[in-house]
Amino acid sequence: MRVIGLTGGIGSGKSTVTDYLSEKGYAVVDADVLARAVVATGTEGLAAVVARFGETVLLPDGNLDRKALAARVFADEEARAALNALLHGRIARAIKECLAQYRAAGAAVVFLSVPLLLETGMQSETDAVWLVDAAEEERVRRVVARDGLDAEAVRLRLAAQMPSFEKRRYAAETIDNSGAPSELYRAIDTLLEKYGF
Ligand code: ATP
Repeated sequence: MRVIGLTGGIGSGKSTVTDYLSEKGYAVVDADVLARAVVATGTEGLAAVVARFGETVLLPDGNLDRKALAARVFADEEARAALNALLHGRIARAIKECLAQYRAAGAAVVFLSVPLLLETGMQSETDAVWLVDAAEEERVRRVVARDGLDAEAVRLRLAAQMPSFEKRRYAAETIDNSGAPSELYRAIDTLLEKYGF
């Protein structure tokens, strides 16, 4: 089984790529989905977060209050490191379990989408990295339109990530998503054909 790591900065189009691949029937493992699953209600992950940060990070219904937690760790580097230490191992384990399930099921290729694939060292789980990329100002425009954030806030988040030109060094393929979605889908199809997936 080949594991293709998909990554890219904020607003580059990772979800658009994985949606397209899923629709075509490819196996996709999405780290964002697993990151939410490890702190779902009733999980040991959520219990660990509450033990460290207190019940104030819970909503009245017992679910994690993501906004409250984000506010707690946003301005406090120590708290952020503690949260990362609690969650990173759990997410990595969940990813490995998903990959093992696809392997056991006989999948020929799995696309593993991880926003911080290169920053966290998860690329060691992959056979090759495909980078999704688009011009910075276009990414800012898309995230502003999607999330209703102001452009400056998006630029700040973007500046905190590894820059695209550095990510490109690790990528076997760079998928340009600066144009229309139809061009993105064509680029993906070309790669799928190139690798015989
Ligand atoms: P994040 O890292 O913030 O989760 P992402 O890399 O998963 O983002 P997407 O959510 O796929 O990126 O794309 C960001 C936004 O831009 C979405 O609203 C998406 O619909 C839109 N988008 C993606 N590709 C294109 C495109 N080629 N043309 C226009 N809009 C696009």
